[in-house]
Amino acid sequence: ILEVKNLRKSFGKTEVLKGIDFSLEKGEVLSIIGSSGSGKTTLLRCLNFLETAENGTISVNGKEIFDGSKNKKYKEDEIRKNRLHFGLVFQNFNLFPQYNVLKNVTLAPSLMKIDTPENIEKRGRELIETVGLTDRIEHYPCQLSGGQQQRVAIARALAMNPDILCFDEPTSALDPELTGEVLKVIQGLKSTDNTMIVVTHEMSFAKNISDKVIFMADGVIEEFGTPEEVFDNPKSEKTKAFLNKSL
Ligand code: ATP
Repeated sequence: ILEVKNLRKSFGKTEVLKGIDFSLEKGEVLSIIGSSGSGKTTLLRCLNFLETAENGTISVNGKEIFDGSKNKKYKEDEIRKNRLHFGLVFQNFNLFPQYNVLKNVTLAPSLMKIDTPENIEKRGRELIETVGLTDRIEHYPCQLSGGQQQRVAIARALAMNPDILCFDEPTSALDPELTGEVLKVIQGLKSTDNTMIVVTHEMSFAKNISDKVIFMADGVIEEFGTPEEVFDNPKSEKTKAFLNKSL
């Protein structure tokens, strides 16, 4: 479903992504782990067109949606269209504070007119049920816990029917007692065949949920494989050192 080739990104003179290659099949879950500053967030942001890579290609469903090597200027509407392949759940939820839960979930599909208003609302209610918040449907973000807000953010991302759902450290802004409910929702999405990329510091979660794991270090993929390969039999010394610190 996704193929990334030779993706490169610099900020000023600092090269943050130094040629990233990987692919993902439909329904797979990919976790990206690595120390702070290794480029994980930047990779997700490039996939979601929040940053523009300087080199490399991104293809979704066999269609190339980005080619950085041509120095091509992508038009706003093209970027907006390409971005729809990806749903993004941020660290800090980023809900619209002035709207209730239902409107947070249905606003983007309504503005983009992806379906009839009735169907958008019906789907919104279903998604809110999926994340276990039906009893909070009219609440505003300030009336919800962090874990509940993050579950709304997940429903909101799903409402646009993305091909690939991306999470950027979805639990790192939460108190430890609230991380479980969010991880459980993500786990549930795996069983309904969603394709997901999860940047996470939660090693046991990554090990349990992933089909594939990328360990990033200094802007390169240092290790790539199944959770068993990466967590139980890491080949690279850097991976071993990181896991020793993190597990
Ligand atoms: P963390 O786990 O702390 O979120 P990360 O692996 O996600 O780390 P990135 O956020 O991708 O790392 O950052 C990689 C490097 O790029 C860091 O050195 C960071 O300072 C730098 N960087 C990220 N965004 C920018 C920016 N907009 N301008 C300049 N430098 C940036």
